[in-house]
Amino acid sequence: MKKIPLHLKIMLALILGAIFGSLFSVDTNTLVINYKTKQTEKKIVIKNWTEFTYILNDSTIKKFQSKEQNSIIKFFEKNSKYQELKITYKINNEYNTISNIINISKKTTIATAIRPLGDMFIRLLSFLAIPLVIASLIVGAASLGDIKKLGRIGLKTFTLFMVTTAIAITIGILVANIIRPGEKLSETSKQQLINSTQSLNPASDAMQNIDFSLIDFVVDIVPKNPFNALSTGNMLQIVFFSVFFGVSITFISIEKRELLINVFSSASDTLIKMVGFVMELAPYGVFALIAATVADFGFEIISTLIWYIFAVLLGLFFHAVFVYMPIIKFMGKYDISKFYSGMKNAMAIAFSTSSSAATLPVTMDCVERNLNVPKNISGFVLPLGATINMDGTALYQGVAAVFIAQVYGIDLGLGEQLTIVFTAVLASIGTAPVPGVGIIMLVMILQSVHIPPEGIALIIGVDRLLDMARTINNITGDSAVALAVATGEQSKK
Ligand code: ASP
Repeated sequence: MKKIPLHLKIMLALILGAIFGSLFSVDTNTLVINYKTKQTEKKIVIKNWTEFTYILNDSTIKKFQSKEQNSIIKFFEKNSKYQELKITYKINNEYNTISNIINISKKTTIATAIRPLGDMFIRLLSFLAIPLVIASLIVGAASLGDIKKLGRIGLKTFTLFMVTTAIAITIGILVANIIRPGEKLSETSKQQLINSTQSLNPASDAMQNIDFSLIDFVVDIVPKNPFNALSTGNMLQIVFFSVFFGVSITFISIEKRELLINVFSSASDTLIKMVGFVMELAPYGVFALIAATVADFGFEIISTLIWYIFAVLLGLFFHAVFVYMPIIKFMGKYDISKFYSGMKNAMAIAFSTSSSAATLPVTMDCVERNLNVPKNISGFVLPLGATINMDGTALYQGVAAVFIAQVYGIDLGLGEQLTIVFTAVLASIGTAPVPGVGIIMLVMILQSVHIPPEGIALIIGVDRLLDMARTINNITGDSAVALAVATGEQSKK
């Protein structure tokens, strides 16, 4: 029998995972409650309840309706740290009360139970990313042998990253201004969204992470201790150290230089082989991740936020057509369909993991092997891009900021929209390439133009879905720039 190519297997896994996840989706009206009695720990599964109420220490109550499973669990996670919660729930017109609750969770299904398989796949990719970046950057920088060239590549890469990010957020703002998703939200949906998530107070949770100073950011690129940078996965510091180390190799004696380059080059080849082995598992990992995400996703919310989702997806599509395609064609001098076909594995992994960092080894592999970008350029541009270039995230933040402003009836003038562009470019530099960080950085953007940060409660329910989509743009942007820089350098030869 003919072997099915890996990319087809991954696509198949995506589709089958989505079907499997929807067949075995989590019941939204069932809750598993663990609680303590005098002697033992007990577990009860409640089904088809119509009312659910928390009673707080000061006797205030917080009521939830039957479809608000996610909010109930989040409320528990957030408040049980600070106080003992009591609950009452109503089934068949009968009220029941439970106290001493230890945990409240959803009932797992076979689709959510296989998530650990997906998590293991993400871990396998993530642990390869850092050693791969180090080995390929050291070899790359050492074989560049020219500091001027390195400076030129660095400047060009950084400029392209910043320009594409600024365009991305502008597209986001424009699309949201034209579609006006915030005004299409009915008054009842608006209230429902605000009520169901208000208790989560996402803004105050996020607030702790938003201190961002450009100067500190630049200073922080220089590691105090490279081993600390490695153990904490600080990609910019790792890039800095590896490039410096690689360039310095060119200044030592020939035998020693060759020895070091050989060692790192063999390490890089080995790591790429490891990526290949891990990718054999990709169909299973992708299947598990998609199945668990779909099974766990509250689909009812999609219809409420459909215009907002549509605006983000349309913006991402426009960005690909009007920014990436010209970069690929005119700066990269490369066939657009060949580019996308070469990148499809990386895109599928970005979509299923929602993490540019975990996808990095696959992105590097696709860019080097399929687009023929030399290692010294991809090894430099891609890790840097995964860390500071997030077009998809910036675009989404633009749409989200305007959407929230529309819902709250705040008119954003030109000055405010420009402030959003500026802050979002900075925020995208500071956004870690892992799932869900984009929404946290959004708080900083909202504050910069005085939009109530609680507004993120409106969109948090569909964040995972949009995170999957924006991560595809994040890695495509890095790859298109790597290609453009490589072609530019080639023409200089
Ligand atoms: N998940 C995105 C990434 O890793 C970041 C974000 O937008 O939350 O690229």
